[in-house]
Amino acid sequence: MPARRIELSERLLAKCHENERGCWIWTGCRDKNGYGGVQVNRQKVRAHRVSYELHVGPIPQGMVVCHHCDTPSCINPAHLFVGAVQDNNLDKFRKGRHSYGEGHGRAKLDVESVKVIRSLKGIRLRDIAAIFDVSPSMIGYVRSGENWRCVA
Ligand SMILES: [Zn+2]
Repeated sequence: MPARRIELSERLLAKCHENERGCWIWTGCRDKNGYGGVQVNRQKVRAHRVSYELHVGPIPQGMVVCHHCDTPSCINPAHLFVGAVQDNNLDKFRKGRHSYGEGHGRAKLDVESVKVIRSLKGIRLRDIAAIFDVSPSMIGYVRSGENWRCVA
């Protein structure tokens, strides 16, 4: 591992503590969604993404790093995996993820419909989207767990 990567890895590890579930909880600054933020090359990036790239490998274009443990502030590489953003439209995804969820005032899906969406297997996103009158990409996010993490 090149020196710069070791240095970055040490910086990351210095800013987290392990909890009883084995999560490496980020103790540095977090965004409003609970994701840890870290400065790399003068850019603010999400700590769990940095951890993934350092310890696991490059994140393929258009993929997001998800948590097995459902803990946004966790940076344990063993708890991270990459998942597809269904429409690859990352910008829309980032903007959209703040808007959904009960209590945001703009929620179109409630907890019950999220459960139903997740139980529908083998049906095209487009068809489910038509049923719930939302965009196919939103159904994708619900399915992948990027939105509505609180619903098991
Ligand atoms: Zn974890």
